[in-house]
Amino acid sequence: MRTALLLLAFSFVSFTFSAKKNVYICTDPKSQYYHLEELCKELEKCNYQVKEVTKGEAEDQNKRLCKVCKENDSKNKKDKEMNKKQEKQE
Ligand SMILES: [Zn+2]
Repeated sequence: MRTALLLLAFSFVSFTFSAKKNVYICTDPKSQYYHLEELCKELEKCNYQVKEVTKGEAEDQNKRLCKVCKENDSKNKKDKEMNKKQEKQE
């Protein structure tokens, strides 16, 4: 019974960890970028395996944030800011 609880706790912890922002990399040694979205069109070009890693791991491999993902990310942030402004006006 105790083991089951421990297992449950452990899987909860690992779930929480995996919910932490992970990024996607192409295992192509030439690939220099990591992606925020698994469905990124740049990542679709990858002929190698796509691997999910933490942002720290990707940065350890000297990978940089993909331009497309970066644009999408800042666009999303802007959209959120716009929404906030609109809320304030009302
Ligand atoms: Zn990307």
